[in-house]
Amino acid sequence: MSGAPKITLATAWLDGCSGCHMSFLDLDERLIELAEKVTIVYSPIVDTKELPAGTDVGILEGSVSTEEDLHKARMFRERCKFLISLGDCAVSGNVPSMRNTYDLDDVFDRAFIENAQAQPQRPSESLPTLLDTAIPIHHAVAVDLFVQGCPPPADAIWFVLTELLAGRTPDPTQVTRFGA
Ligand code: SF4
Repeated sequence: MSGAPKITLATAWLDGCSGCHMSFLDLDERLIELAEKVTIVYSPIVDTKELPAGTDVGILEGSVSTEEDLHKARMFRERCKFLISLGDCAVSGNVPSMRNTYDLDDVFDRAFIENAQAQPQRPSESLPTLLDTAIPIHHAVAVDLFVQGCPPPADAIWFVLTELLAGRTPDPTQVTRFGA
């Protein structure tokens, strides 16, 4: 194991299906190699509650669709030195943005009444506060790197991370594309 200090990494999913995180886990045995160089300080895949200030790399999956997403995107931007927008939902809006041409009331009715199998009704509490539209991460905060794909393949995530660890700025378009 190298004696070099580890870099710190944080991840979160906003309005996404978690598929981009599953692709990250598809690094499989390469996760062991990664763990020698990287400490994950905040993520759905580790049990931490606070994103530390000064985190080296932040990765966000999903679009910004709710007030909570917006808060988390801003927190990542504030506390991470380098911010990656991971996957087509984060980069372009993709699936979550399909609701953007509809009135929010119609979206709720479609979800909770028209498509309900039983007890059609809109919940009166615990609903996230939706923004008027679902937006890509970079429409909310500045992003340093965009990694397309739905999801980006594990090899692309590996390429991006190893390039960053080597001190280079990767070009993800070499290894992935929209919808890949
Ligand atoms: S880009 Fe694809 S895999 Fe990733 S969160 Fe969106 S729908 Fe899921």
